[in-house]
Amino acid sequence: MSDSPVLGIDLGTTNSVVSYVREDGEVRTLRGSDGSYLIPSVISFHPSGSVVVGADGRERRLLDSRNTVFSTKRLIGRPFDSPEVRRAKERFPFEMTRANNGGVLVQARGETYTLAELSAFVLREVRAVAEKELQVPCRRAVITVPANFNELQRSATKAAGRVAGLDVLRILNEPTAAALAYGYGEGNNERVVIFDLGGGTFDVTVLELANDVFEVLATAGDTYLGGDDFDSLIAEQMAEAFLAHHRYDPRGDAQAYERLRAAGEWAKCQLSHQKEVQLRIEELAYGDGGASLDLTFGMTRKGLEALAMPLLARAFDVCEEALSVAGLRPQELDNVILVGGSTRMPLVHRMVTEYFGKKPLTHVDPDIVVAQGAAIQGRILASARAKSAIGRVALRKITKVGGGIQESNVAQHRDLTGPLNIPPTSAAVVGGGAASALDDIFDDAPAVATLQKPSAQNPGLPPPPPPRAPTPPPPPPPPPAPAPAPVPDLPSLDDTFDPLAFDPAPEPPAPPPIEPARPPLLLDVTPLSLGVETVSGFCERIIARNSPIPTEQTRVFSTGMDDQSEVVIRICQGESRRLEENQELGAIELTDLRPAARGAVQIEVTFILDADGTLQVRAVDLKTGKRQQIRVQLVGATEEGDFDEMQARLEEKMGG
Ligand code: ADP
Ligand code: MG
Repeated sequence: MSDSPVLGIDLGTTNSVVSYVREDGEVRTLRGSDGSYLIPSVISFHPSGSVVVGADGRERRLLDSRNTVFSTKRLIGRPFDSPEVRRAKERFPFEMTRANNGGVLVQARGETYTLAELSAFVLREVRAVAEKELQVPCRRAVITVPANFNELQRSATKAAGRVAGLDVLRILNEPTAAALAYGYGEGNNERVVIFDLGGGTFDVTVLELANDVFEVLATAGDTYLGGDDFDSLIAEQMAEAFLAHHRYDPRGDAQAYERLRAAGEWAKCQLSHQKEVQLRIEELAYGDGGASLDLTFGMTRKGLEALAMPLLARAFDVCEEALSVAGLRPQELDNVILVGGSTRMPLVHRMVTEYFGKKPLTHVDPDIVVAQGAAIQGRILASARAKSAIGRVALRKITKVGGGIQESNVAQHRDLTGPLNIPPTSAAVVGGGAASALDDIFDDAPAVATLQKPSAQNPGLPPPPPPRAPTPPPPPPPPPAPAPAPVPDLPSLDDTFDPLAFDPAPEPPAPPPIEPARPPLLLDVTPLSLGVETVSGFCERIIARNSPIPTEQTRVFSTGMDDQSEVVIRICQGESRRLEENQELGAIELTDLRPAARGAVQIEVTFILDADGTLQVRAVDLKTGKRQQIRVQLVGATEEGDFDEMQARLEEKMGG
């Protein structure tokens, strides 16, 4: 089993994509039963009791919108009372209820599902696509998440993988994956921006690539900006036109509105490669005496652009935010990489070109680049594990590279010591981080204390990366735009891929064959600050937003009462000074404190964020040296006992 490929899975809000790295190092992306790379992240609960996922699930959105669930990634790890969930409840036709832990549950056909379980259905389908194509069991994966996912969202994604029968080797940030697919093994020295506009969300990330070091300088995003918004705007116009013509507002009918949105999406995609579109929807509603009311609607690209422009402008405010954190101006970026289906809109190209002062790269396929990067990371992790079992000498050599990287590429960017109370043992936070990044790649690698800069006197370093492989045969043509959801009686207009939006690839989109002996060092950042509750509902920041991970930071707490035997520390994530405005992650409890006067017991609490962005906490009584390593009990985490039940239900509904 350990020889089976590690799947690289882009678990998208709208579509998921799966890639893997072949034995010969070539990165391949797999196609679903409909021949597309894109596996719609849609789960439809069929009257028969089974579940239909992917392209077939998406078709059912139009037939059975109440029992067809989509965009779960928007809701995962979010409290039921959050603005995001409130908004989703207004817009989504399926039923959501509050879970006991304050999270979201989805109801369909009389059964209740957690969001992790729903994501598991998608991942199970992705696994089935891979297993069908590869004809081997696929049980290991690297799954990508948006860079701004918090702890709860990451852990729910991991749980989903487990329910789907996958050992999740790593949760990887989407932009980092994209950068890896773009730059792995190329030895580039450049600053790139990943501009990711998908179905529901927009993310922008600035990375510095220095040989094999991929360092995230800044990341920012808008969780409500994406292709869905354009679909809704078009659907609104259609509804207005229908209302004006028939004096009937289709917005009151969830099923009719779904059809309008699907038609809106279809029109939008057409307008990426043609100037004008006409469509007709028959029997959108019924008038007096049961007469069928039809919609005829036309739109030009100019019209769509006028609608979309104000929304898209918001993306550049987000770019501004990321660039200011990175301390860069738009023109200082060497390359712009587009990710996500919505970047196929010609308007996006124009606005990106204008803002950054250069054209975005066109040889990177925006649909599959994230999954490709995840597959590369998967291969690196798998071969590192295999190697660490054989011998450790090579690993030591590689660990030294981390030292060099740390000095030359990290320290210059930020002052990591900040105002925090950092004990001598973790003074070299950056160095520790770099070392643990590699330890994390090589799970069994010994910890190496001294990190050296690679030099001529330090000959034990791995050889330079091999030259780029000879040009492989030209790639297959880019996949067609995802087939729009069927809209009854639409004129059959040409639905081919748009040469305007994307030039035919001058270079193969697949990254060069990968050479796992020399893993890149991924220096990601944490998108949200981590802190703890102090007095009166305030929050004390411990790990600041945009800190490179892995990292650890320490604070010293003292008891507030005489003979206090326990301390409960509530942990939160977010930027507010007030606890209630941040996401509460959970709490840690320190018990069996020694009896002493108030303030006399000092406990050093260390937050350790690993390369997944997963938090661990260590607490040490400074006087006695007594140590507790604590796993944070995350709010809403899947209970150990629930996994078996979820797995059984999934296998039953998806037919194994
Ligand atoms: P996600 O990351 O949310 O899973 P994707 O990257 O797959 O999403 O992008 C899906 C979005 O891209 C949808 O809103 C879809 O309508 C849009 N899209 C796909 N192709 C085109 C196109 N040719 N023109 C405009 N939008 C497109
Ligand atoms: Mg995406």
